[in-house]
Amino acid sequence: MTGQELEYIAEAHANGMLAGDGPFTKRCHAWLEARTGANKALLTHSCTAALEMAAILLDIRPGDEVIMPSYTFVSTANAFVLRGGVPVFVDIRPDTLNIDETLIEAAITPRTRAIVPVHYAGVACEMDTIMDIAQRHGLMVIEDAAQGIMSTYKGWPLGSIGHIGCLSFHETKNIISGEGGALLINDPALVQRAEIIREKGTNRSQFFRGQVDKYTWCDVGSSYLPGEVIAAFLWAQFADAERITSERLTIWNRYHSLFAHLESAGSIQRPVISQNCQHNAHMYYLLFPDLSSRTAMLKQLKASGINAVFHYVPLHTSPAGLRLGRAHGLMTTTDSMSDRLIRLPLWVGLTAEQQFMIVNAVSAYSHIM
Ligand SMILES: *Cc1c(COP(=O)(O)O)cnc(C)c1O
Repeated sequence: MTGQELEYIAEAHANGMLAGDGPFTKRCHAWLEARTGANKALLTHSCTAALEMAAILLDIRPGDEVIMPSYTFVSTANAFVLRGGVPVFVDIRPDTLNIDETLIEAAITPRTRAIVPVHYAGVACEMDTIMDIAQRHGLMVIEDAAQGIMSTYKGWPLGSIGHIGCLSFHETKNIISGEGGALLINDPALVQRAEIIREKGTNRSQFFRGQVDKYTWCDVGSSYLPGEVIAAFLWAQFADAERITSERLTIWNRYHSLFAHLESAGSIQRPVISQNCQHNAHMYYLLFPDLSSRTAMLKQLKASGINAVFHYVPLHTSPAGLRLGRAHGLMTTTDSMSDRLIRLPLWVGLTAEQQFMIVNAVSAYSHIM
């Protein structure tokens, strides 16, 4: 929390306008557009909702294929599956754990419609290569930038590079509103329809701007806009986004230097940030040699009172992923990372002493392994 959330919520209450697209939502939209350079930013209930809107905007139809990593959260795939799309999973890079851009082209078929790069841990995918592939094959690019706010690729904010970007403000992310998200529309041709899809398929947004004298049902859509209380909370977070990011980076960098010796000793691998990326310190993770050492480490950390976790169950091995998607090629790196990764605690307010304790606990058990 930044300390301003309740004040802004009280202001939203006093404004007397609690539905969506009131003064706080407008401020949040303007901030996101200024910050990312997106043609249009629209708050949503979640990144999941933004991804679902993207699938509708692209007119994904049954049998259309969408290329994405398997090493991601379920919403990346689910949003397209809801329209009948088929997720085609491609393996990840062993350094950033992002989709391996060199494997994308071979996964393209006549049914391919889009590529969904996921910026894992707020570290950018190789977007130049991905945009080039998309352009040559006439594909759309939807960035799953759920973890990517305040990160950049070659100076470009994540979510502003593809045709569409999706952000999350879920409480597990860097900038939060409990549940929350945003759709960034970079392709101007998609803006008007995005507003309609978000407002239950009506042109209500144009009506409020005085562009039409009544509003009516124009297209498919749903209710994707959050109320003003959520936007007021989010505004407090936006106002402090620079400080939140720099404090997270301090914590991330401290972990990174404290774990250097364990990496030199060959016990663990630390995260890799590519030269092209300024990251947002969304996550600090370590890679252990194998599943058994990872399991033993998690047990020891838990016994020391440290809440460390693993993720993801690769989508290509999950019950729904097996039924609704398919893997293109071997998923060796995805399977390996899923067995070996541990996320360490990282939040604004985590003290240096707490970090020393965590590093000591990991070091102590690494020597036994
Ligand atoms: C958190 C997350 C989502 C979902 O975000 P919500 O706002 O909770 O819907 C989607 N994709 C990735 C990669 C995420 O980390």
